[in-house]
Amino acid sequence: MAASGNKQYSWLDGKFIAADSANVQILTHSLQYASGVFDGLRAYKTAKGTAVFRLNEHIARLFNSAKIYDIEIPYTAKELAQATLSLIKRNNLESCYIRPFVFYNDNKIGLSPIGKKVSVFIAAVPFGAYFASGKEKGISCRISSWRRINSSIMPPEAKASGNYANSILANVEARKAGADEAIMLSIDGSVAEGSAENIFLVQDGKLVTPSKDSDILQGITRDSILKIAQNMGLETEQRKVHAEELYTSQELFFTGTASEVTSIIKVDSKKIGSGKPGPITKMLAEKYSEVVLGSDTEFGGWLTYL
Ligand code: PMP
Repeated sequence: MAASGNKQYSWLDGKFIAADSANVQILTHSLQYASGVFDGLRAYKTAKGTAVFRLNEHIARLFNSAKIYDIEIPYTAKELAQATLSLIKRNNLESCYIRPFVFYNDNKIGLSPIGKKVSVFIAAVPFGAYFASGKEKGISCRISSWRRINSSIMPPEAKASGNYANSILANVEARKAGADEAIMLSIDGSVAEGSAENIFLVQDGKLVTPSKDSDILQGITRDSILKIAQNMGLETEQRKVHAEELYTSQELFFTGTASEVTSIIKVDSKKIGSGKPGPITKMLAEKYSEVVLGSDTEFGGWLTYL
């Protein structure tokens, strides 16, 4: 959290600017056409000081998202990693959410982004739990009537602003129907992901998650959980998942930088397992927490200290 009264900054094209005056014009290309790419990271307060979780992997994904959209980022990965660390320090934040955003900073009307100025913005802001009370109690989900974008239409592997129009349709539908979040299916009817989370199923002690060909964002938390689970001796499987398997699994949970490990205790009208966060979910959530907080040394290399 930021010390009170502490002036907050953002980073824009190599300069720190006051966070409350980081503005663009409404006609900005990426605002009109959702042509930006971004990423989302967390920094945690550890016993050895503040550390960003899997900084290099997030920055690498940002560059891959940009590459898919033919956006040339005018900085190196090293420069953006350094800017991220400096911004957190400058804002005097012990823990925070970090949002790097690459966008066409041009307000002339016209769809083609070719030749338009690319800007990079980074925000570092205090941030708590993504699902209020979800961590302890678990959340409810609804299978969306909106299908997840397919890579023949839009690339789900890019963390691109435009993809979130699809996520928002699903999220709003779920929320208006009284659920906390949506679970989206792929065009082929298999399970893809939440609006901003990957999903895991626990089946007879085995961890199952939709494979990379299931129209998912390749989540960094997903990767972390797979590695943590394997390290704990849990069997893991990445494959196409039928929608009905959601109902019959003993446990379900979401993973994401913002949502961390969040138990899903209800899908549509059906209770999942006992209707409470299950033992494997709780064990993985606890282990994930130890890893991000630096109290587990096995995955210490995932932390970049300020
Ligand atoms: N899927 C989508 C669509 C997301 O927006 C996110 C959040 N970035 C995730 C999955 C989880 O990814 P990560 O674990 O890298 O945050």
